[in-house]
Amino acid sequence: MKKVYLETFGCQMNVSDSERVATQLAAEGYEITARESAADVVLLNTCSVREKAEHKLFTRVGQVGKDAAERGEKKPLLGILGCVAQLEGETLFARSQAIDFVLGTRAVGRVSQAIEKASGGQKFYADLGDREETYDWAVTGAQRHSPYVAFVPIIEGCNKFCTYCIVPFSRGREKSLPASEIVRHVARLRREGIKEVHLIGQNVNSYRPRTDDGLGEFRGATQFSRLLRAVAATNIERIKFTTSFPRDFHPDIVEALNEHENLCNWVHLPVQSGSNRILKLMRRGHTIENYLERIDKIKSSPRRIALTTDIIVGFPGETDEDFQATLDLVEYCKFNSAYVFKYSPRPGTPAHEMSDDVSAPLKTERFLRLDKLIRFHQREVFDDYINRTLEVLAEKISGKHSDQISGHSTCQMVVNFEGARDLLGKIVKVKILESKANTLYGKIC
Ligand code: SAM
Ligand code: SF4
Repeated sequence: MKKVYLETFGCQMNVSDSERVATQLAAEGYEITARESAADVVLLNTCSVREKAEHKLFTRVGQVGKDAAERGEKKPLLGILGCVAQLEGETLFARSQAIDFVLGTRAVGRVSQAIEKASGGQKFYADLGDREETYDWAVTGAQRHSPYVAFVPIIEGCNKFCTYCIVPFSRGREKSLPASEIVRHVARLRREGIKEVHLIGQNVNSYRPRTDDGLGEFRGATQFSRLLRAVAATNIERIKFTTSFPRDFHPDIVEALNEHENLCNWVHLPVQSGSNRILKLMRRGHTIENYLERIDKIKSSPRRIALTTDIIVGFPGETDEDFQATLDLVEYCKFNSAYVFKYSPRPGTPAHEMSDDVSAPLKTERFLRLDKLIRFHQREVFDDYINRTLEVLAEKISGKHSDQISGHSTCQMVVNFEGARDLLGKIVKVKILESKANTLYGKIC
């Protein structure tokens, strides 16, 4: 039996793709191993969002061959999957002789075919083709990243073409999965004992299936808010969704959250910049005024909805005033957390043609200032949870303290508390007593 080692870089979409690759390979008789040194086949599922992620890949590719040579063994078969594979295709073979095959983002359903071809001696095997009509989206429990939490893709690809972003090129156009299939999928996960589903996609709220099949009886201002209500009706304990695109964030999403307890109180709404001038250059499709309207709507909910965001610093042409506008926005929104990225020019995107004129030291300075401000507000937001009771899904034994359990609240905060192993998989009420860097600490009540 061939052993396969699979390593994943990047976003939840990649993690979810890897879960399906592993499921498929296991069903076809391969053994999925956690030890690279035991593997006959190494698969790297790649990310291309920033240049750094691509560099990491080439370091890893070199390492696979080097590690095998050090063990005195033959290099395992090496396959590159995911976004870099889709973008670079056959040119990857010229960049490293260690690579045996390349499989694009929508070709992952044919992974065993690629392994067979390459092990049969076929050189430079690349498949960048489309997903099969019959593609199986199922994941077995053994291959899921968590025994209690499942990712459920609802929309693939992206049509937005923000000027800095490579995703529409690496993942293709938006394609929504039928609502009836999604609802069936969630209902099955519930029967299997899954407590929490994450509806995932680059822009979940741009969800537009071809038909209303599965949405019929559910009202709502958009197909996404109807889908939220349909999924809520499965009675699965918790539903989270990410990422939301600000322009398409209809207030009815907040209404749906207000109506259904099992729709969790967390919204990830990437703003990218606090300056209208930069947002226009980024072609984001929203202004700060639109964004703040959405934030105000979310904050007006009787539920305490946690807000998170993504921000890019040092986009071409970003002035001190533009950056100050981002600081002001952060001051206003008081995010639970924010991912801050230094702008990274991606070949093939429109922004790559603009002059990358914010110097590296200035990008670093802005990154650090923004990060400091976010952490400052985070303290305030986190401290406000103290003495409150949160519902926490007990997910694993804490890495640091074996008598502690770690899990997530409905508002996607990491919460640690003392408890025994038999609590794993249960949703428990935890009174928050303390907050540290990125974690809340409490006791079961
Ligand atoms: N679709 C989501 C949205 O529009 O908000 C985001 C998906 S993208 C894979 C994740 C994040 O990576 C983006 O929100 C953005 O902040 C960051 N990102 C994308 N391209 C980037 C680039 N060229 N340089 C730096 N950060 C980038
Ligand atoms: Fe990239 Fe913009 Fe699409 Fe998000 S919406 S994936 S940032 S192009």
